[in-house]
Amino acid sequence: MKIAAVRTHLLEHRLDTAFESASMRFDRRQHLLVEVICEDGTTGWGECLGPARANRAVVETYAGWLVGMDPLETEKIWAVLYNALRDQGQRGLPVTALSGIDVALWDIKGKHFGVPVSTLLGGRFRESVKAYATGGFKRDGVDRVTDNTEEAARHRAAGFHAMKIKIGFGFDEDLAVIRAVRAAMGDDMRLMIDGNHGYDTVEAIKVGRAAAEYDIDWFEEPVTPEHLSAYREMRTMQPIPIAGGETWHTRWGMREPVETRCVDILQPDLCGCGGFTEMKRIADMAALHNIRVVPHVWGTAVQIAASLQFMAAMVPNPVRLNPIEPIVEFDRTENPFRQAVITTPIEHENGIVRIPDGPGLGIEINRATLTEFAAGEDA
Ligand SMILES: [Mg+2]
Repeated sequence: MKIAAVRTHLLEHRLDTAFESASMRFDRRQHLLVEVICEDGTTGWGECLGPARANRAVVETYAGWLVGMDPLETEKIWAVLYNALRDQGQRGLPVTALSGIDVALWDIKGKHFGVPVSTLLGGRFRESVKAYATGGFKRDGVDRVTDNTEEAARHRAAGFHAMKIKIGFGFDEDLAVIRAVRAAMGDDMRLMIDGNHGYDTVEAIKVGRAAAEYDIDWFEEPVTPEHLSAYREMRTMQPIPIAGGETWHTRWGMREPVETRCVDILQPDLCGCGGFTEMKRIADMAALHNIRVVPHVWGTAVQIAASLQFMAAMVPNPVRLNPIEPIVEFDRTENPFRQAVITTPIEHENGIVRIPDGPGLGIEINRATLTEFAAGEDA
């Protein structure tokens, strides 16, 4: 089997209401899907985390090496592509683009052998996972306390067991939101806070100490990801478990944060850290150091399906009768093509998501959606 072509699909939707995290403003949703086509007609799908147009340029650069290679040789292809841009590309776009390709290759491999990717990864420990709702952004022209509490009540009513909200806008405002959201959701729902590296260490420690009384599961990206010593300081200077890792790429990018215990919970993004091939190594490395892994997910149903395949195969730690189970991140912000890119949407039922069990990623792409939301060339 040989790769015949690589195609990219850049999807875009302008939002009715723009929203912000502490580090980024969203006035549109943009995602890049990667389609790898084999000579025998088998097609695999992947997705790249991050700026879609920049990812597209890198995927198209890689395509020159990919065509003619055997798609089943995922380790070999990973090494060839990584090496091709290694001198300038040890993290960031060269790795996020490589991630989308790698995910597509594993989709092909699963289809070729007639099994889900989770089986290829070693086996399915679970057929479903709990989902947590990601939302709580700062939306234009809307009071944040009111907006976030109403959203929390909606997620609770929809059956979610957990919700993550965005903070990093300043101590007083953030604490008011955390307090109000906890009151709105009640004591039995889990609450996580995500700083999107909007604080310095002093303010982050103050927030962590003050927020702890609201029973917070984790404090995500409190400080900028380059400052590993600040992450270590966060773990010792305030009581909430620290999470992070969505911007750390490859085993080499993860090594120091893991070995020096910068986080309690590692959040590699499958479509950013290097695809299935690299994610497996990263999860094994985290397990070696007894660090919990909760994958970061911010994409279309292609990324969600891929992340679910990975989560199905995550080895419980410890193996016990009632094990600590992974939970899947479920973005609840406006994105009309998130689930429409596949023919059978991956939805939650009372906060629980079934893991697809068909070959590869276990999904079928809806090509009409790719056409409907295809981005123009203007922006
Ligand atoms: Mg985050």
